[in-house]
Amino acid sequence: MKHSKTTLLLSALVLLAASFISCTNKNTSPKNIIFLIGDGMGVAHITAALTTGGSLNLERMPVGGLITTYSSNEYVTDSAAGGTALACGEKTNNGMVGMRPDTTAMESVLDVAESMNWATGLVATCKITHATPASFDANVPSRNNYNDIAKQMADTKAEVLFGGGIENFVPSRVPGSRRKDELDLLAKLAETHQVVTTAEGFNALATPLRAVALLDSGHIATSDKREISLSAMSTKALDILSQDKDGFFLMIEGSQIDWECHDNNSEGTIRETLDFDDAVGVIMDWAEQHPGTLVIVTADHETGGYSLLDGSVADKTITKTHYSTGNHSGVMVPILAYGPGAELFGGIHDNTHVGKTLKCLILE
Ligand SMILES: [Zn+2]
Repeated sequence: MKHSKTTLLLSALVLLAASFISCTNKNTSPKNIIFLIGDGMGVAHITAALTTGGSLNLERMPVGGLITTYSSNEYVTDSAAGGTALACGEKTNNGMVGMRPDTTAMESVLDVAESMNWATGLVATCKITHATPASFDANVPSRNNYNDIAKQMADTKAEVLFGGGIENFVPSRVPGSRRKDELDLLAKLAETHQVVTTAEGFNALATPLRAVALLDSGHIATSDKREISLSAMSTKALDILSQDKDGFFLMIEGSQIDWECHDNNSEGTIRETLDFDDAVGVIMDWAEQHPGTLVIVTADHETGGYSLLDGSVADKTITKTHYSTGNHSGVMVPILAYGPGAELFGGIHDNTHVGKTLKCLILE
């Protein structure tokens, strides 16, 4: 992102403050941070995936806790305020992305990582301009301003952007475009990044230093119909970002757990949670081979008020479920952690603790 004088001054103050505070009394600063967000993923979602899958990669993460999810103005958050709390370490109103309720811009953990010369990346199975990834790389008063978010992302400092959402990056003359202007943001991104927009293009990507892959006009297909899996996107992101010897920050979102819960579709909920867990496996394999890597898994909120009323561990089945809502709920969500600094995420915290602590660990 482009920085104004104010944000530069703010960065300097944050750096100054960080030299006086410590996230941890131990010398355990991570070299790399990988932050996985299962959108809408609560305890029941994980339990259902564990029952039907038999085991989960999430079980490889030794530290566990819970985080609250309420926003500045609502007990039940949306993904914009939830994502912003995780990305920036401050609460905001529902609908707002990377901005305080008074519309002043916040610095995200991605911004802080870039200020420390880390490589950074965002991977999602929704439009890359959607609320969760946008919370890390845009500042807008409304999450629905996809075209503004795309315009800001065309100036991204991030080395990797993988997701969907071509429709907000191409000029209005292109069929399917949702822009109202003639800005060609893919051409702009191509000045700084290798850009691909097809599965074939993605599979042919070597390991450039900077890459953008927008793999669908809108959101990417559900996990059972996806040409490029979340795990494959995660692997490619690791290959690219790990070339930076200063370290890297990578956010990976399993975006569609949330949508299946909005539809009260238990089968879909379990499918998307297991798909997300596959990506957790890719990340844990890498982290175990690369000491100094902190891995965090959490959710921005719970979706569906999902509960499991009957099933069988022996048969790996869930036979009776209930959704109390087609929206989000206000219950706390789990957080799991592995690697240096993991213990800072154990116990019960506010969701802002996550963004604050990640920033602090990068600056330390
Ligand atoms: Zn969400």
